[in-house]
Amino acid sequence: MNDVAVVGCGPAGISAALQLVRSAFQPTVYEAGTPGGLLRSADHVENFPGFPAGIPGVELAERFIEQLTRWGVKPRRERVAELTPAAGGFNLRTARGAETYRRMILATGTRPRRWPLTVPGEAEARVHDEIIPLLELRGARIAVVGAGDAAFDYALNLARRNAVVILNRAERPRCLPLLHQRAADHQSIDYRSSTRVTAVEPGASGGVKLRCAEPAGSVELTVDYILTAIGRTPRRELFTPELRRDDGRPIPGLRLVGDAVNGSLRQTAVACGDGLRAAVDVARELRGELEEPR
Ligand SMILES: Cc1cc2nc3c(=O)[nH]c(=O)nc-3n(C[C@H](O)[C@H](O)[C@H](O)COP(=O)(O)OP(=O)(O)OC[C@H]3O[C@@H](n4cnc5c(N)ncnc54)[C@H](O)[C@@H]3O)c2cc1C
Repeated sequence: MNDVAVVGCGPAGISAALQLVRSAFQPTVYEAGTPGGLLRSADHVENFPGFPAGIPGVELAERFIEQLTRWGVKPRRERVAELTPAAGGFNLRTARGAETYRRMILATGTRPRRWPLTVPGEAEARVHDEIIPLLELRGARIAVVGAGDAAFDYALNLARRNAVVILNRAERPRCLPLLHQRAADHQSIDYRSSTRVTAVEPGASGGVKLRCAEPAGSVELTVDYILTAIGRTPRRELFTPELRRDDGRPIPGLRLVGDAVNGSLRQTAVACGDGLRAAVDVARELRGELEEPR
């Protein structure tokens, strides 16, 4: 049986893996998408210590990966499809086969909340819920739907090369005041409060037409793309009932870390601290320094 696997190669999983290697273990790290995780979507990270002028999320993610590589960890680019308890550990299954591990750290992050509106087939390709596919756009008109930190961060990122309208169905934004101010000061961002999207249909020249309800009545807006930022939900489908104790906590030997469990505390430094803490505990357990697995 192998010692330990880390599922997810975002900030939490990377921090866990680094600490495990420093503790003389060789974790297997599984990553279904691109190593670096959601951090790649962040425009400019200003609350991760060590970068006085802030750092683009993608650059910070690359630095994390470089550090992982220097310590000899190469993520396995495989989606973990199933996790089950086994005698003394866990069975982990991917499309390529199964492995067993004594300890397991799940750092699977979040997924975007689905937009409740029906989007007709022809317009579907123009509606996104992650920013990555839109980062190459130049000169496009983009509607960002939402009003939290992510919506404003996306808008500031895209507005460097495109015209952006932020649509907030509520009266006030829910983001950090500084993000709101930056958007207000930006020439390429049009922020509209109390604007609720009621329907989406294909636009005349390949774009999408949005119908919106505003206090003054109904308005139409045609854009090239829509990016929704209406919240994220924990990605915890691997954490099935057989992996839970009666009180809902993970069974001994299993740890959930980072955005997958952090509710509204979804920040990189918090995810890193979580991963590190779990790895320290796992290393102590595997060395036999703790009487019982936690
Ligand atoms: C627009 C935006 C701006 C942000 N700005 C900031 C900021 O300024 N400061 C800050 O601190 N934070 C910021 N964040 C939040 C930060 O990105 C997250 O807190 C951080 O990435 C969480 O790390 P994580 O490792 O817990 O999860 P994630 O980064 O989401 O990583 C989880 C990884 O697990 C992988 N995975 C999931 N399921 C499986 C599976 N079954 N098998 C294998 N792999 C799997 C995913 O592909 C993913 O790579 C921002 C986020 C967004 C969206």
